[in-house]
Amino acid sequence: MAYDKNIAATVAEAFVKKKQARDELIEKRRLELLRVIPDLKALEDEIASVSFRTFIKVADGFDAEKAAAAIKEEVTALTGRRDKLITDAGYDKDYLNPPYDCPLCKDEGFLDNSYCNCFRKELIKLTFAESNLASLSDSSFSDFSLSWYSDKSENGEVSPRENMERVLSECIKFTENFKSTNDNLLLTGPSGLGKTFLSSCIASKLINEGVNVIYQSSSVVFSLLDRVKFGKNMTESDSYTAERLLDADLLILDDLGTEFITEFSVSELFRILNTRILTGKKTVINTNLSLPDLKKIYSERILSRIIGNFVILKFYGKDIRFLKRQ
Ligand SMILES: [Zn+2]
Repeated sequence: MAYDKNIAATVAEAFVKKKQARDELIEKRRLELLRVIPDLKALEDEIASVSFRTFIKVADGFDAEKAAAAIKEEVTALTGRRDKLITDAGYDKDYLNPPYDCPLCKDEGFLDNSYCNCFRKELIKLTFAESNLASLSDSSFSDFSLSWYSDKSENGEVSPRENMERVLSECIKFTENFKSTNDNLLLTGPSGLGKTFLSSCIASKLINEGVNVIYQSSSVVFSLLDRVKFGKNMTESDSYTAERLLDADLLILDDLGTEFITEFSVSELFRILNTRILTGKKTVINTNLSLPDLKKIYSERILSRIIGNFVILKFYGKDIRFLKRQ
């Protein structure tokens, strides 16, 4: 389980730039102070020469700590004088020491050999954007209301509400056991019953825990694979995304069945599902298609992979988008 490498690299680059910008700001301010405070240069030179003497002592065989301790008082006095020169000129004492965005790690992004929270926060933000979930990043299981689903059973089935209780608890269980489970989820049923919402809750929770998630509609996925395969209008990010379809910790394939279905797309779907199952990567599929439809459209072997490896969650009841509008 790890953050996506490209995303981590992008965030790391932003941190390096942030440090550079701070260094440049300090240098600019220093030059400004040297212009307006005539005595500052001499004082800076003195501080530098004291530090230089420490290096020499260490080179002569002195213990580094002892050498630093010996000149500590001298340095403190000198920097005190320097600070006073700066404040006397009307500047803030910390003018040459502007605040860090994160005082904890001094904008290094690392703390005790692991990511600092500030770095992790940026990773999560970017992961949401890259997984196409920026707008759904607030989705949370606690916002899911069962009261929209009827508690009256029809045709001998359990009531839509009771059914959704089970669906919701399966989705929560999948998320909580994500690292240990071998299950995948198939969310099947008509539109407007909460499939997309629940899958974005799963994604949102897992991304916040550092899971590498890719959320994509199947029409986008298969036209992308088509471009990669035939090299037409392929963008640089296409081949990268095509790889992520196979190796992301979680792939959420939205709206399966709405893509342009060809022999190629069917065999690609099999390749993706099969590779992911064999490598223990988990998949959530949303579809309006029923199991018999899936078999008819995609083949027996795809259906048998799904039946053998996915928890099937059927959605039924009245379109809650319609009910909410009333
Ligand atoms: Zn930090």
